[in-house]
Amino acid sequence: MSHRWHTPSDLGHALDLLHDDEDAVLIAGGVSMVLFMNVGFLQPADMVSLAGLRELFGVRRTDGGIDLGAMETHTRLATDTILRATYPAAADMFSGIANVRVRNWGTLGGNLAHADPAQDPPVMLTVLGASAEVVGSDGSRSVPVGELAAGPLTPNITDEEIITRIRIPVPSDDPLRTAYVKFLPGTKDDYATVSIAAALRCGDDGRLTDVRLAGGSVGPTVVDLASAAQCLEGQKPDPDVLASVAEAVREQVHPRSDRRGSADYKREMAGLMTQRAVRACLEGRPDGIPVSQGVGA
Ligand SMILES: Cc1cc2nc3c(=O)[nH]c(=O)nc-3n(C[C@H](O)[C@H](O)[C@H](O)COP(=O)(O)OP(=O)(O)OC[C@H]3O[C@@H](n4cnc5c(N)ncnc54)[C@H](O)[C@@H]3O)c2cc1C
Repeated sequence: MSHRWHTPSDLGHALDLLHDDEDAVLIAGGVSMVLFMNVGFLQPADMVSLAGLRELFGVRRTDGGIDLGAMETHTRLATDTILRATYPAAADMFSGIANVRVRNWGTLGGNLAHADPAQDPPVMLTVLGASAEVVGSDGSRSVPVGELAAGPLTPNITDEEIITRIRIPVPSDDPLRTAYVKFLPGTKDDYATVSIAAALRCGDDGRLTDVRLAGGSVGPTVVDLASAAQCLEGQKPDPDVLASVAEAVREQVHPRSDRRGSADYKREMAGLMTQRAVRACLEGRPDGIPVSQGVGA
């Protein structure tokens, strides 16, 4: 089958192409799209490349945070100085995605639109409170990253919308301590068997506040572990408290059995990885600079 390749140079033209042809599909890095085409899962007649849209590139510091272009690749975000200086665990998360080929071509917007519950960025961006700007012919809307997927491979955006930018709020006073831990019992470039992101603050009295937890590969979409996070709120993270949060996580997740492990095994690992993620947040430097943790096998 032949494909028509469209190369709009501005967002308005790209939106017109999507609006005028209901079968047209967007292509960003092509990492998942080309795979789907190779196995015959998709055979789009019209493909709209996002590569010429300048609005979708760049990383900027804004008044309230950091603004990431949806067309930035995982490699670019892993090495971005603004992101690394503020949230090194997020930069490390990007450098831990799959392998160099996937990181060099795969984009953040494509990752979020692909909506695979085993992917890494949605988990980390959820605890950072990030939102995606989604633009259509009728205007734009802001969608929390944790709500961008309706189910596996089912994004919460229409075929006529484009994710343009992802905004991470950054508090000006006391930055969050963050960590991202993924369990990779097979190969280092595999999708996570289970992943956990944590963000929190630790007061001078050792008590935790503003705790947020999220899990990947433990449900049909990224799982916001808000009720488990409540177990840590206002507490000192002693072993009993960490055991109670692990138990709450085990109750809140709904993993599926697959070749990476049984549902019971993943549930156990989600509890354990949560304890590791919280500890990793606390092992930061005394000046409050957040720490990061990569692979946690
Ligand atoms: C072998 C392999 C291993 C992988 N391992 C991991 C992993 O361990 N962790 C991880 O997080 N990810 C992993 N990925 C996913 C990868 O990181 C990419 O992010 C993902 O494949 C899609 O990125 P892309 O830019 O290539 O999107 P494309 O393949 O170009 O597009 C994917 C989908 O998103 C849509 N789309 C793309 N951009 C936008 C946009 N801006 N707005 C709206 N819709 C858009 C497309 O129409 C398409 O439906 C893996 C992928 C492969 C093939």
